[in-house]
Amino acid sequence: MARYTGPRCRLCRREGMKLFLKGERCYTPKCPFEFPEERRRKRRTSAPGEPPKKFRSRMTQYGLQLREKQKVKRIYGVLETQFKNLFKRAERMGGVTGENLLTLLERRLDNVVFRLGIASSRAQARQLVVHGHFMVNGRKTDIPSFIVDKGDVIEVREKSKGLTLIKSNLEREIEVPDWLSFDREKMRAEVVELPKRTHINYPIEEHLIVELYSK
Ligand code: SF4
Repeated sequence: MARYTGPRCRLCRREGMKLFLKGERCYTPKCPFEFPEERRRKRRTSAPGEPPKKFRSRMTQYGLQLREKQKVKRIYGVLETQFKNLFKRAERMGGVTGENLLTLLERRLDNVVFRLGIASSRAQARQLVVHGHFMVNGRKTDIPSFIVDKGDVIEVREKSKGLTLIKSNLEREIEVPDWLSFDREKMRAEVVELPKRTHINYPIEEHLIVELYSK
């Protein structure tokens, strides 16, 4: 499955906010958004290809909708076709499409691995999943877009439990969302309930995405 391989900080600059795409680095002064204001010239936060501006020009409604969609795609590391398919699935679910879309993204296996703190970013989580380090309900699962369901059990495979990367990630103090229960010692998690909109704490206006796709 295709994925974005270009510079990730550039994506944050385009969206004008931190999207936390690089794991630990995003919390250090190396992040351009954390760089002291007076030294910003060295680390720009303006949109790629645009000179630094004090104020961004006003966007059209279409521009706002497009940016919102791109932002969500970038946060979850999903490309257009897959995102569109998820949107169609969210529509079929009934209820509020925008909320369905976000909860489906939240239920992706790579996101679950990230939320559990086994990986420091979704990109790293995706790589760990692709490399076959996880089992879902006792079966090896190496598909990052796999959508988990209530009652599913996600665990690190026995042979992968000694991996330095996984062990060092688990040493961090990460708050696991309450829709997941996690036994750190056993490296085993269970989906106790499906995530709700309130579990997603990013500044996302999902109704803009629904408006965009409804045109
Ligand atoms: Fe975004 Fe992280 Fe780069 Fe900061 S360090 S701009 S949050 S990817």
